[in-house]
Amino acid sequence: PASIGVVGGGQLGRMFIQAAQRMGYRTVVLTDEADGPAAQVAHEVVLGRDDDLLALRRFAARVQAATVEFENVSAAGLRWLSGRIPTRPDWRAVRVSQNRLREKAFLARNGLPTAPWRPVRSDAELSRACSDLPTPIILKTASSGYDGKGQRRVDRPEAAPKAWEELGRLPCVAEGVVAFAAEVSVLVVRGADGRSTTFPVGLNRHVRHILDATLMPAPIGPIASLEARELALRVAEALDYVGVLCVEFFLTPEGGLKVNEIAPRPHNSGHLTIEAAVTSQFEQQVRALCGLPLGPTDLRSPAAMVNLLGDLWTNGPPDWSASLRSEPAAALHLYGKGAAPVGRKMGHLTVLDRDPQNALSRAMAARRSAGGGARSG
Ligand code: ATP
Ligand code: MG
Ligand code: MG
Repeated sequence: PASIGVVGGGQLGRMFIQAAQRMGYRTVVLTDEADGPAAQVAHEVVLGRDDDLLALRRFAARVQAATVEFENVSAAGLRWLSGRIPTRPDWRAVRVSQNRLREKAFLARNGLPTAPWRPVRSDAELSRACSDLPTPIILKTASSGYDGKGQRRVDRPEAAPKAWEELGRLPCVAEGVVAFAAEVSVLVVRGADGRSTTFPVGLNRHVRHILDATLMPAPIGPIASLEARELALRVAEALDYVGVLCVEFFLTPEGGLKVNEIAPRPHNSGHLTIEAAVTSQFEQQVRALCGLPLGPTDLRSPAAMVNLLGDLWTNGPPDWSASLRSEPAAALHLYGKGAAPVGRKMGHLTVLDRDPQNALSRAMAARRSAGGGARSG
């Protein structure tokens, strides 16, 4: 194809578009955000929602293949689109991962390990969940949660009804809190021919349920690394997935792995592959979409990434470019977002270093020198 499209206008769409343009493709974005991160860099913007048939029609007429950049796209819209043009990932895979109840059932059906969980769609199911699962538990709304939104921790069974009330009594998953030693993630790339590969495992640090930093390769030893990569490949296989997919895991103190969730797209924990890998996660997504051979997932160097998050700035938002003064080797990515509410992902910084821990220290020092990350370390 000469012209490829992305549904969704955020930073993942922006970085996908940047990769596609470097590879010579014309890029079109379908978004309702006229000046959003992706719209700013696309060759063409089709303005509209992903569940609006007229917008979808205009979009489909402009591209020969399309992908998505967030999981909360309309499954019906994506399904309609896939009747017109090749659409990767498939709407069925997106549908599974956009609903935690469906996602957990899919994982259980395929023998993939997770935290113990129960569905919560009624008062009866809520009290069953509380008697079946030892506290503490976490209640998560089945759909449209991200960055920890739509979650309540419940420390005593008596507190569960109020927590569910606070979540609007929406359909939820109740899951046991995992006393994890670490959080890791694996990016899988799978081509239309069923061939697949994974990037090295990333070690993730969350602050207030939002990803704060990733380093790669995760220093978790060869056995856990191989196991995580194999489990991630099994997820992609079971979904008959085409494109880039991220599997988030909890690593238990005993060295076991539990799948936390699946993201049917490139992922924040893979941003460092732009500089650190032979082929970035976004370039892999282009390749899978366009039927090109997948690239090597080897790292040129270990690396670390820190997010630049919106916060309650006392002296206005930081000048992030100041981070390059203290760390000239850092790669700075800003997403072109205007306002900066607390926790909003404004950009990220990547540093390559033979020692990934050192890469992380350097990236965090660079962020601090620009006045960011003070509250989060
Ligand atoms: P994302 O932005 O990654 O899509 P999300 O809102 O979908 O996030 P989760 O990944 O389910 O949320 O949870 C966010 C974070 O909260 C996890 O990365 C982890 O740090 C913590 N967390 C979630 N579920 C559990 C659990 N069962 N046990 C322990 N910690 C948990
Ligand atoms: Mg999620
Ligand atoms: Mg998550």
